[in-house]
Amino acid sequence: MTHPVLTALGLGDNESGTYLGNGEWSQTRDAGVLEPVNPTDGSVLARVQASSQEDYDTIVERAQAAFKVWRTTPAPRRGEAIRLCADALRANKDKLGSLVALEMGKSKPEGDGEVQEMIDIGDFAVGLSRQLYGLTMHSERPGHRMYEQWHPLGLVGIISAFNFPVAVWAWNSFVAAACGDISIWKPSPKVPLSAIAALRICNQALKQGGFPDLFFLFNDAGNELAQGFVDDRRVALISFTGSTRVGRMVGERVARRMGRSLLELGGNNAIILDETADLKLAIPGIVFGAVGTAGQRCTTTRRLFVHEKIHDDVLARLVAAYKQVEGKIGDPTDPKNLMGPLNSRDAVQAYLDAIAKAKAAGGTVASGGAALERPGNFVLPTIVTGLANSAEVVQTETFAPILYVMKFRDLDDAIAMQNDVPQGLSSSIFTNNLKAAEKFLSAAGSDCGIANVNIGTSGAEIGGAFGGEKETGGGRESGSDAWRAYMRRQTNTINYSDSLPLAQGIKFDL
Ligand code: NAD
Repeated sequence: MTHPVLTALGLGDNESGTYLGNGEWSQTRDAGVLEPVNPTDGSVLARVQASSQEDYDTIVERAQAAFKVWRTTPAPRRGEAIRLCADALRANKDKLGSLVALEMGKSKPEGDGEVQEMIDIGDFAVGLSRQLYGLTMHSERPGHRMYEQWHPLGLVGIISAFNFPVAVWAWNSFVAAACGDISIWKPSPKVPLSAIAALRICNQALKQGGFPDLFFLFNDAGNELAQGFVDDRRVALISFTGSTRVGRMVGERVARRMGRSLLELGGNNAIILDETADLKLAIPGIVFGAVGTAGQRCTTTRRLFVHEKIHDDVLARLVAAYKQVEGKIGDPTDPKNLMGPLNSRDAVQAYLDAIAKAKAAGGTVASGGAALERPGNFVLPTIVTGLANSAEVVQTETFAPILYVMKFRDLDDAIAMQNDVPQGLSSSIFTNNLKAAEKFLSAAGSDCGIANVNIGTSGAEIGGAFGGEKETGGGRESGSDAWRAYMRRQTNTINYSDSLPLAQGIKFDL
C-alpha cells in the first residue's frame, strides 16, 4: 500500500524520475530503478524509474530552447514566476515537509523548516529579480562611458546531497531562475521522491501562471548520467552539494572543460566556549548543533573546545541533556520526537566505525556510543572526550551525531585547533568577552565561511552567502551577492565622441 504521506502529494508507488519538459514525464522503464528506503523501518517507500541517456539528451535540448526565451524575459517578470512557486510551496508546506521527514529521516519540524527555507529563498529571489545590479565606471578616455552588466549564464546543473532533499535545489534553482537561467536537477538517489514532489509543485505553479519550463529533473540509477552531466559543455555551471570526495572529482572534471563549478562540500564545524560563556545559551546551541538532523547537516557541530575551568561542568550538563534527547528518538514524522534515524545502514556502520576508531585512539565515550536494537537506522547521540584535535577520526567528517569534546587553556590555541582541519565551513564562539569575540571574527580568527558569536554552527539564514573554505569547496550560495555565480559579467565601453583614442596612446596613420 502506498504510504499516506506519498498519497497526500499525489505520488504513487511507481513513479517516473524524469521531467522532460512540456508537462511530460518520461515513460522510460528500462534504465534502472531507485528504491528509496524509509529509514525508520527499512521498508521500500516506492519505485522510481531512472532516466535513460535519451531522456537526458531530450532534457538538455529542451532546456537550451527554454533558455533562449527565458534569458530575454525581463528579470522582474522572472521574479513573478518564482513568487508563484513560493506561494505553491506555502500551500503545500505541511505535506512536503512530511515527505522530507519520511524519506530523509529528519524530524517533522525540520522537514517543515526545510520547506520554509525554500519559501524564504523564493521570496529572496523575487526581490533579487529587481536588484541584479552592475557598476558604472569612469572611463579614462573623453567621450566614453563604461559600465558592466550581468547576463544570464545558461543551463545550471544541480547535483544535490541526501540531507537537504529539497532546500538546496531551491537555493540554486530559484536564484538561477531570477538570473535568467534554466536548471536541470539530479537529486540524491536516496531521496528522489522529495525531489519529484517539489518539482511537481513548482512546475504546476509555473504552468498555471502561464510560464514556460524553468526546472528539469533526471534521476540516475548509477553515476553514468551524472558524470556525463558534469562533463557536458552545454551545462554552464555545475552546482554540486555533497561529500568532499565526490566534489573534488566534480570540480576537477568541470575545470578540465573550463566550465564553472560551485562546490558546497563537507564540514568539520567547531564551537569554542571560553570561561565567560553564557551556558544558558551555549548548552542548547551545542545540543541542537550536534544532535539536530541526527548529525547529518553539513553545519553539524562535530568538535567542541571548552576552557579548562568550565570543562567538567559543561560536560556534565551536556551528558544530562543528551539523556533527555535519548528519550525522544524515534519516528521523525511524529512531532514529539527530537531525533530521527540516520538515513542509511551505511551511515550506521560509519558511525560505529568512527566510535571504534575513537576508542582505539584513546578516546572515552561519555554518552551514547551505540546503535539502537530496533528496526530502522537509529543510533544514540554520542559524546567522546580525551582525544587530540589531530586524531584522524576528529579530523574526518563522520556524518552522524558524534561530538568530540576537547579542553583548552589559551584562546589562541583554541582558535588554532578550530582552524586545524581540512574543512572550513561553520564555526562559533560562546563568550561574553568582547575582545575574545572580536579576535575570533578577525583576520587572525576563524578561517571558516561562517563564523558566529553566541549562536551555534548550524541553522544559517538564507540572507547571507552560505558556504565554506578549504575542502568545503569555496562555493557560496543563497543570499548576499551569491547570485553572481549564476550570471556572466560583461564590461561595456561606449564611445560617444568623434575620435577613437587608442590604448597606450598608439596612433595608426590611416
Ligand atoms: P555524496 O557526495 O555521496 O552525494 C552527493 C551527490 O553526488 C548525490 O546526488 C550523488 O548521487 C552524486 N554523485 C555521487 N557520485 C557521483 C559521480 N561520480 N558523479 C556525479 N555525481 C555523483 O554526498 P551525500 O552523502 O549525499 O551528502 C552528504 C555530504 O554532503 C556531507 O559531506 C555533507 O557535509 C555534504 N553537504 C554539504 C553541504 C554544504 O552546503 N556545504 C550541504 C549539504 C551536504
